[in-house]
Amino acid sequence: MRSIDNLTFQGAPSRGLSFELLFSALNASVSGIIITDNQQPDNPIIYCNEAFEKISGYTRSEIIGHNCRFLQGKDRAQKARQLIAGAVKNGETCRVEIRNYRKNGDLFWNELFMAPVKDKDGSVTHFIGVQNDITLRKKAELELIEQKAVMEEQVKERTVKLRESEAFLSSIIQTVRESLLVLDPDFKVISANDHFFKTFKVNSQETIGKLLYDLGNGQWNIEKLKELLVKILPTNNPVLDFEVEHEFPHIGKKLMLLNAYRIELEGQYKDRILIAIEDITERREIERRKDDFLSIASHELKTPLTSIKGFMQMLKRLQPAGLPEQYHAIFEKVNLSIERLNGLITDLLDVSRIQSGNIEIHKDTFNFDQMVMDAVDQMQSLSSSHKIICTGSTGVMVTADEQQLVQVLNNLLANAIKYSPDSSEIFVHMSKVSDYVKVSVRDTGVGINLEDQQRVFQRFFRGAEFQKKFAGMGIGLYVCEQIIKNHNGTIWLESEKNHGSTFNFTIPIEP
Ligand code: ADP
Repeated sequence: MRSIDNLTFQGAPSRGLSFELLFSALNASVSGIIITDNQQPDNPIIYCNEAFEKISGYTRSEIIGHNCRFLQGKDRAQKARQLIAGAVKNGETCRVEIRNYRKNGDLFWNELFMAPVKDKDGSVTHFIGVQNDITLRKKAELELIEQKAVMEEQVKERTVKLRESEAFLSSIIQTVRESLLVLDPDFKVISANDHFFKTFKVNSQETIGKLLYDLGNGQWNIEKLKELLVKILPTNNPVLDFEVEHEFPHIGKKLMLLNAYRIELEGQYKDRILIAIEDITERREIERRKDDFLSIASHELKTPLTSIKGFMQMLKRLQPAGLPEQYHAIFEKVNLSIERLNGLITDLLDVSRIQSGNIEIHKDTFNFDQMVMDAVDQMQSLSSSHKIICTGSTGVMVTADEQQLVQVLNNLLANAIKYSPDSSEIFVHMSKVSDYVKVSVRDTGVGINLEDQQRVFQRFFRGAEFQKKFAGMGIGLYVCEQIIKNHNGTIWLESEKNHGSTFNFTIPIEP
């Protein structure tokens, strides 16, 4: 059996290198080094340095004489092994990364450089293998690969989610029953939804990339609108409910309601403007017809009611003496109902007058406190369930429409009585505040929840809980607010559910 001592180191003596020096150099190497004898059966290891002993955990005596394969244990099916076998067979060099196992069974990754040693005739006599333990590097590499795979998976998932939400958003935008346009900061159209194309009977070539003001026959080229749109990006103030009535190409005269907002996104969608356009031609027409109907109906109702009132007065004058008491009670009840009906029809007529802008103010100078007291007395005579307690005074003469202010007081007092069925007192307080007069009507009734408080002055609004319990049309407070507004005053309320409400109004003493 050959040993390292029999190896010839070509050229070594001529360079002044002693065998001992070369031997010590091999042992000093931090890389594991082995030499195999290719001319013996099964290519056994004939030399290993100390570093190799350290890497493998085997001692020299356990290594010498073995084929290198013992390092792979049972882990045979490695591609690196085929590469080594090929290199041995062909007498070539090779570099592989191979899984090896220490004596204690621990896996270590071995980076092996293998080269043939040839004799003078060129036959391969030995192989020299230089090995490095690259377990840590390999572990880091494998972790990196794993992380990359996890990340790729996450990116894939997120991309799918993004695509889904994009598709979701665009399906909403496409199905929305409003025309939508997205503009860049220079007011060029970047995109439009299907509803826009259908509504205006245009195609994308005529729309996308065009300036908003050049669309159609210049329908959006309106100075006032331009002024508002220019302010959207710098101030973030949206354009709300801007009405455009115009003879549009293809679709004729229409009334469009336009709302515009800045799209609140950063990145590539920054500084975009979203315009929503709604065709309100039909809705406005229906509202107009409803208002016309209200106006006609209330006029038509008022005429026979005035006759009924007149005939009732005649009946009262002509009544024969000695009628039973019951007759008078019924007579009073009929009168009361006529008064209520008259009040409702007056309110209805006022609504239609307000709608058409036909409400007129007939101003006079009168004693304000007297007017309030008279209205309270009149309401008191119609209500036996509640006592109306009047406090304070203004002590001033006011210039205003007395009839209309009486109407406001009537509405507030009637509501206070109606919406406090379980109590028996209503409080009215008058005061002079700076150059205004102020009246407060307070009840301790059902109160109004916060949400409804914002809406009670809207036309036809009725608190949902009370619709069935209390009769009404939801126009009293609307009329009050319009009258007070026309007097340059303010009306407001303070209320808490189940704890009553206070309605206040102020008007200037001098108009
Ligand atoms: P109506 O009384 O005919 O419904 P109004 O315009 O006078 O119409 O009032 C609108 C709504 O405001 C009422 O339906 C009711 O819900 C609420 N409201 C008005 N006054 C009072 C009050 N004093 N207390 C509680 N709720 C009130």
